[in-house]
Amino acid sequence: MAQTGEILLDIKGINKFFGDRQVLNGIDLQVRRGEVIVILGPSGCGKSTLLRCLNGLEPVQGGNIQYRGQNLTEAGVNWRELRQHIGMVFQNYECFPHMTVIDNILLGPLKVQKRERPEALQQAEQLLDRVGLLDRKHDYPRQLSGGQKQRIAIVRALSMNPDIILFDEVTASLDPEMVREVLDVILGLAKQGMTMIIVTHEMGFAKSVGDRIVFMDQGKVCEAAAPEQFFTQPATERAQHFLNIFQ
Ligand code: ADP
Ligand code: MG
Repeated sequence: MAQTGEILLDIKGINKFFGDRQVLNGIDLQVRRGEVIVILGPSGCGKSTLLRCLNGLEPVQGGNIQYRGQNLTEAGVNWRELRQHIGMVFQNYECFPHMTVIDNILLGPLKVQKRERPEALQQAEQLLDRVGLLDRKHDYPRQLSGGQKQRIAIVRALSMNPDIILFDEVTASLDPEMVREVLDVILGLAKQGMTMIIVTHEMGFAKSVGDRIVFMDQGKVCEAAAPEQFFTQPATERAQHFLNIFQ
């Protein structure tokens, strides 16, 4: 799907350096509305850095990123505003420990988006229900498992009604029995047409959730293909080698 949707993100030739070290080298990527892109690649190849550039957490040094036609690589971009549209969920999500689940979720809608509490609360409760955690709304983060905290993190991103959500290895720190419950939430979002860029090392999940697999190595996109193609006939030796390790 989504070959014809509006282009939400148009990434052209972005470069990123840490000191002398180039960690992104001419990355091109287009993301259309409704599309699910999975980014795979060995540790250190630049996956997190790429997502962080798309969320304004790292500046780029060359190339450009457009979100719905707006250039994100020039000075004066309002990232606080943009992060409402481009949400992100991290590997280690920490809620504010002194606030309940529901107050953690409502922070963005109320403080950033200045929405009315009853409406924001109603949506937050619907989202909590969708991830099976409505009964935990008055809990504090310390009372939750890692998998539950990550589901809350996803709800927190969704509560801003973003156009796109970036997921950076959101199950990597979880005990194995909690991985599935988080992946299932993301699969559900894919079915509902949410636009997502997902960095993961869960190959079975990548195959089932992705419309397109983007394989990175050493700061470059090595290969981009439909999952059935990528997992059965990867075009590059690097991707073959990577898949041999993971499968
Ligand atoms: P991945 O997510 O694919 O494992 P990263 O994007 O985290 O890779 O890192 C890409 C490269 O950039 C790595 O070599 C890493 O050590 C380096 N790097 C990441 N963040 C920083 C930073 N803040 N300062 C210096 N080097 C960094
Ligand atoms: Mg990473």
